[in-house]
Amino acid sequence: MPSPTLRTPESFAEAGLIAPERVAALSRVARRYAVAVTPAMADLIDPADPADPIARQFLPDERELQTAPGELVDPIGDHAHSPAPGVVHRYSDRVLLKVTHTCAVYCRFCFRREMVGPEGEGTLGPGELDQALAYVAGRPEIWEVILTGGDPFVLSPRRLGALIARLGEIPHVRVLRFHTRIPTVDPAAVTAELVSVLRAARQTVYVAVHANHPRELTPPAVSACARLTDAGVPLLGQTVLLKGVNDDAGTLAALFRGMVEARIKPYYLHQADLAPGTAHLRTTLEEGQALMRAIRGTISGICQPTYVLDVPGGFGKVPVGPAYVTEDQVEDPSGARHAYPR
Ligand SMILES: *Cc1c(COP(=O)(O)O)cnc(C)c1O
Ligand code: SF4
Repeated sequence: MPSPTLRTPESFAEAGLIAPERVAALSRVARRYAVAVTPAMADLIDPADPADPIARQFLPDERELQTAPGELVDPIGDHAHSPAPGVVHRYSDRVLLKVTHTCAVYCRFCFRREMVGPEGEGTLGPGELDQALAYVAGRPEIWEVILTGGDPFVLSPRRLGALIARLGEIPHVRVLRFHTRIPTVDPAAVTAELVSVLRAARQTVYVAVHANHPRELTPPAVSACARLTDAGVPLLGQTVLLKGVNDDAGTLAALFRGMVEARIKPYYLHQADLAPGTAHLRTTLEEGQALMRAIRGTISGICQPTYVLDVPGGFGKVPVGPAYVTEDQVEDPSGARHAYPR
């Protein structure tokens, strides 16, 4: 019997991940925001290390109940751009399709933390899915459908296959992109059935794998990624910059190199969004820019993601530097400035 996902502070204490004295306080947090830690992630946590970067991502913290000034219930403005159930249409050529609000794990910094969870908005019902697909089918400018949530890979391969088949009937949709944390947090869920439904898609399929610390790239996780790439599915990496998890150049370099070694192309490094109760996990933009500058000078170009900020309020994602060009000068990777005619 594989061990189950841990879903309560009591179970974290029984597994030795938190001190029993903290159960009451963390239960208050768990009533406010969903919690779940998969066996694969629980195994990675070192309870003896109070600064463990895996624990910081998944175990609840008393500070989550404090909302800092500027934090927003809907930090990236999903609701402002939702023309149909589960659809977010902010850029003309692509839509998000949020098929489910459940995840295998609940990340403490989640930008959709007010929407995800077992008691969140749930999985799209048949009528809602019909409306969402009718919206996509009626708009020829939609070139790409980004399946997200929640985590689309928590759906059974059968359901996912049915959805992929219906999307396959929309000729102007050329690319399906899945955003998921499953390959690292529950690698065994990347089954032969899941791989075969992705392989059967009529459109080009990309999978964006969310990972934040090099320790998440365990041998089973790397094998799960290999099952996808061996089936012809290109992998992108997305990472959230998190204080006390990956906010040093050595950790980011190891993560992005680990991704490239696993055939995952680092795509985005996200500035942590202004989700409620996440201030203790957020860096400043200046800290993020300094980290990007540090890795630009030292590791391969194929290991470099774009550092992006989702402009609060639903205005879209933009690269946030650092900038190397000023007036009539350009900075080289070592920080020296050189003249460049304009
Ligand atoms: C992040 C996001 C996308 C995807 O943006 P890319 O830059 O293509 O990765 C699309 N739509 C919405 C609403 C988003 O938030
Ligand atoms: S897997 Fe994604 S959607 Fe789910 S809790 Fe983590 S960040 Fe949020």
